[in-house]
Amino acid sequence: MPRLEKLLTTLKKNDPQADLDMVRLAFEFADKAHEGQKRASDEPYINHCVATAQTLAEMKLDVPIIVAALLHDVPEDTAVTMAEIEKNFGADVAQMVAGITKLGKIKYRGMERYIENLRKMFVAMAQDIRVIVIKFADRLHNLQTLGALPEEKRRRIAMESMEIFAPLAGRLGMGEIKGQLEDLAFKYLNPKEYESTAKLIAERVKQKEKFLEKTQETTQKELKTANIKILSFHGRVKHVYSLYRKLVRYDNDPTKIYDVVALRLIVEDLASCYAALGIVHKLWRPVPHRIKDYIAQPKPNGYQSLHTAVFGENGYIVEFQIRTQKMHEEAEYGIAAFWNYKENDAKSMNKQLAWIKELSVMQKNLLTKIKDLENLKVDFLQNRIFVFTPKGDIIDLPENSTAIDFAYAIHSDVGDHCAGCRVNDQMSSLDKSLKNGDVVEIIIDKKRKGPNPGWLKFAKTSSARGRIRSFAKHSIAGWVKEKIWPRDNDEDE
Ligand code: MN
Repeated sequence: MPRLEKLLTTLKKNDPQADLDMVRLAFEFADKAHEGQKRASDEPYINHCVATAQTLAEMKLDVPIIVAALLHDVPEDTAVTMAEIEKNFGADVAQMVAGITKLGKIKYRGMERYIENLRKMFVAMAQDIRVIVIKFADRLHNLQTLGALPEEKRRRIAMESMEIFAPLAGRLGMGEIKGQLEDLAFKYLNPKEYESTAKLIAERVKQKEKFLEKTQETTQKELKTANIKILSFHGRVKHVYSLYRKLVRYDNDPTKIYDVVALRLIVEDLASCYAALGIVHKLWRPVPHRIKDYIAQPKPNGYQSLHTAVFGENGYIVEFQIRTQKMHEEAEYGIAAFWNYKENDAKSMNKQLAWIKELSVMQKNLLTKIKDLENLKVDFLQNRIFVFTPKGDIIDLPENSTAIDFAYAIHSDVGDHCAGCRVNDQMSSLDKSLKNGDVVEIIIDKKRKGPNPGWLKFAKTSSARGRIRSFAKHSIAGWVKEKIWPRDNDEDE
């Protein structure tokens, strides 16, 4: 019970109007469904569900996501059906739970399945990104309780977290989740390196504690004098795995790394960020070439902040990270932060669009990564491409497919009335081969009588070709034209 109370308290703090009754109901429902089930650690199973929900509540996510998190293992592990979940908690929650259940069936067992898994994960994400966010929270708790599992299973989960989940979290801008996933997995995969790196961080913190406090105090005073409102000002420590990777890049020389500990300053608005940077530089001499304006030029995953390394108290170097509260939340929670702002305005629409673009970039990266992996049978993906509708739906096509194939894959009506296309926001010709990750929009002409038999020259899928041909047969002109154009060999789908 105290776990549930903690969850409810967190939710209420985030939103005093939150529907806590619904959360209690979901808890009771899951508790009853999992009755008698235990985790490998011998704890009651429900603790895992609540822990997953708690992580999401701390990310300030809303009640439907929390409810789905509480129920996330119910269809997989109990006699309760999806229909019952939908009846009690509605279609939105039921769809999320169904998504997680599907994802749960994906297991990392050898490289071949790995490819298939990535694809499924990707499709699930495109359908509802909240599913993957819940999956991250689920995975975090599984990693935290990994010790209770047999060695082989432990390794599988840790590998999968490191190779699939953490990079995905990174691409989605979920820095905090990525860091936690990596650290927990690293601890199992490479315990020695984990220990020595963690020790190095602890030593550095201890060694710099006094100096950081002093630097912070002095800076705080100056900020106050300048009337800059401080929302939060605290030390932040680098994640273990992130430092480990950086050390490898810097010849294992910790003295070359300035941001093992940093001072993070959160201020009210954009103007205050730059004003605070000015104060910091007036007080402390900046280290040359160490100023980064990620506000004016955000990182590809959307990260925003001002970074500067300065010679602080006693000439010690320290990095300052300056940002607004909103930038902070987006840096920690990334895509998940989109649900904690109740904005149904143009801004959130823009974010939706940005997200669709992000998905396509992410997919390209995943595919590149797959190709990089050695001894991999990639036939499955090499012959297929994945392209997007402007709404973010994925269409799976054979390689060298064109916009015509895409149009027919959506619906035969869309194909029949296709008048042109935009690929990645640019007007494009219909005969051009599409590439992985392209966002394709079909321009429709309602008055159009049917497909152009000329499309047969470049249509690749048998569904498109069949439809175009059958239309052509009904019109004499089409029939004549079809005879003129040479036939390609149909590609089997
Ligand atoms: Mn679970």
